[in-house]
Amino acid sequence: MTDIRDVLEARALLAPHLPETPMWSYPVLDAAVGARVHVKHENVQPTGAFKVRGGITLLARMPDARRGVVAYSTGNHAQSVAYAARLHGVPCSVVMPENPNPAKVAAVEALGAHVHVAGATMVEAARHAGDLADREGMRLVSPADEPDIIAGVGTLYAEILTARPRLDAVFVPVGSGTGAAAACIVAEALAPACRVIAVQSAQAPAAHDSWRLGEAVTRPVKTVVDGLATGSAFAMTQAVMRARLDDFVLVDDEDILRAQRMLLTEAHTLAEGAGAAALAALLARREEFAGAEVAVVCTGGNAGPAELARLLAA
Ligand SMILES: *Cc1c(COP(=O)(O)O)cnc(C)c1O
Repeated sequence: MTDIRDVLEARALLAPHLPETPMWSYPVLDAAVGARVHVKHENVQPTGAFKVRGGITLLARMPDARRGVVAYSTGNHAQSVAYAARLHGVPCSVVMPENPNPAKVAAVEALGAHVHVAGATMVEAARHAGDLADREGMRLVSPADEPDIIAGVGTLYAEILTARPRLDAVFVPVGSGTGAAAACIVAEALAPACRVIAVQSAQAPAAHDSWRLGEAVTRPVKTVVDGLATGSAFAMTQAVMRARLDDFVLVDDEDILRAQRMLLTEAHTLAEGAGAAALAALLARREEFAGAEVAVVCTGGNAGPAELARLLAA
């Protein structure tokens, strides 16, 4: 399993490729929340989301990277793997389920990856990706059960907790759980007193319910929040969360939309829904954290046209 040494190695490895992202606090946001809030800005990554840290780390450590990689994803994981493959000069294919969002196809193709549209659902797309990897001799990249991805994502939490070792808590949105697992590993080593608090949409609670129940369960996905839309739990990230995670909050999609608007107006930051979920969780727990010093990770800013319209509608 990934440990803090892997994260610190990944930090050195990523340094020439990705500068440290900014972390700012905003007095009007602090006043609105009633706490000292540090916003970690992963929305400014070159792919618009934190996942690129994991993709670059995975490919840099892959011994036989030249054979290429296959991912299945419609969103930020696809862009992460495609970006990393281009950086390392490695062939990359991405399988997306039928009727993909054209903007997301274009983003992945612009990075030089080959997009295959196959399967009615993500589960079927994953099977097609596995077949393609077998056929072409390429490596299938899981969105979460990959120690090197968790190590790379951990660099985000190493940046936060090196800059602010006395934080009371860090709030982390969860889809597959790489971010929350990485936060647990890093907090344990660098800031044991810092609480790690995960958040998911109540409209897609598989990771939350699996953590609470102590066993992997599947749940329907009804959330409109892309990065959080996972219907089952990932073994590796759940195991880490079980050992160290302090709390797991559920918020409604409506709460996430409100937090997205708050980031826009109080922190001049365009977050996609998943990127505002950490703030939504803090707002849901504002009494508990009144006067505390906390970090919320704005994990990404890839809001598509429909999401932008929803965000700006009164
Ligand atoms: C993937 C993603 C998440 C969820 O991260 P996991 O590591 O899958 O739990 C949150 N926010 C954004 C913007 C994402 O792309």
